[in-house]
Amino acid sequence: MSIRVLVNGQIPGEGLNLLADRFSIDYYKRLGDPDVLAAIGDYDALICLFSEEFPSGLIGRAKNLKIISNYGVGYNNIPVEQASLNNILVTNTPGSVTEPTAELAMGILISLARRIPELDSRLRKEKFGWGLLDNLGTGLYGKTLGIIGYGRIGKAMARRGLAMGMKITYYSRTRLTAPAEREQQVEYSAFENLLEQSDFVSLHVPYTRETHHMIGKEQLALMKEGSLLVNTARGSVVDEQELIKTLESGHLGGAGLDVYENEPLVSEQLLTLKNVVLTPHIGTASYEGRIAIAEEAAESIIDFFSAKKPVNIINIEVWK
Ligand code: NAP
Repeated sequence: MSIRVLVNGQIPGEGLNLLADRFSIDYYKRLGDPDVLAAIGDYDALICLFSEEFPSGLIGRAKNLKIISNYGVGYNNIPVEQASLNNILVTNTPGSVTEPTAELAMGILISLARRIPELDSRLRKEKFGWGLLDNLGTGLYGKTLGIIGYGRIGKAMARRGLAMGMKITYYSRTRLTAPAEREQQVEYSAFENLLEQSDFVSLHVPYTRETHHMIGKEQLALMKEGSLLVNTARGSVVDEQELIKTLESGHLGGAGLDVYENEPLVSEQLLTLKNVVLTPHIGTASYEGRIAIAEEAAESIIDFFSAKKPVNIINIEVWK
C-alpha cells in the first residue's frame, strides 16, 4: 500500500513534486473541514500550514499518522504534547524561513520609520505639495535596535541592523558568550533595560505560555517615548488592545505588525491609526522563501519514510 500524505493549504508545487513519485498526495484547504476529520485516519503523513489551528479530536482520530511536517518554523498551532503521546513526530522548517522573515522585519521597520506607506498613499490621494517639514520620518543610522528573542531570525535581524549603522542590543532566554557577543557586535540587556533604551524594538520570540503578552501595558509604558515596535513573531506575544491604547496616547511613535492576536481578523482601531504599518502575516512570503519551505517540509517526510532522521525535529522523544 502506498504511503498517503495529506497536504493542507496552498503550498508551492516545487516541494510537493519531491513527494509525488513516492507518495500518494491529497489536498485539503482547511484542517477544520469535516471531511478531514472523517478521513484523517487514512493518512501516514501531514504537511500543515503554520497558521492552521488543529481542531480538537484530529490527532485522536489520526490512527495511522506518523509525522506532521509543519510548513513554517512557529509551531504553536500544533498540539505537540498530544502528538508525542500518539507517537507522531513533529518537524518544522527553520532553514528556509530565517532570511525572508528578517527581510520583512527590516522592511517594516524602515517603512514605519520613514513613513513610506503613509506618504505613498497620501501622494496618490492628495497629490499633495512636496513640503519640506511635514514628510519627516525617523532615521535609523546611529539608533539603538533592541531585539527580543535572539535566535535564528533575531540574529538575521541584528545583521541587517548593523548594516544600517545601528547599535544592537538583545534580550533572550539564553545569553551568548562574551566572545560571541563581541564577534556578532551585539550587547545583552535585561528585558526592562532594553525596552527603556531602544529606539526600535523588534520581537523574535516563539509564542509559548511564557511569551503570551510579553509586551503588555507595563512593558509598553517602559518603552522610550516615540520609539517604534515591530512584531513579526506571533500576535499574542503583544497585548494588542494595550498596544492600541499606547499608540493612541502618542507614547509610542508607531508599530509595524505582520501578526495579530485574532488572525485573520485585525482590530478595527489598528486600521484607522496612521502610525502603524500592517502586513498580512507575510514574513516568509517571497517566491524563493515559500519554495524553500515547501522543499524543507517535503524533505522531512522523505527522510522519515527512508528511516533517516529528519533534520528539524520538534519532539525528539518520539524519534527512536
Ligand atoms: P528560534 O531560532 O527558536 O529563536 C527564538 C529565540 O527566542 C531563541 O533565542 C529563544 O531562546 C528565545 N526565547 C524563547 N522563549 C523566550 C522567552 N520566554 N524569553 C526570552 N527569549 C525567549 O526561532 P526563530 O526561527 O528565530 O523564529 C522565531 C519566531 O518567529 C517563530 O517561533 C515564529 O513564531 C515567528 N515567525 C514568524 C514568521 C512570520 O511570517 N511573521 C515567520 C517565521 C517565524 P533559546 O535560545 O534559549 O531557545
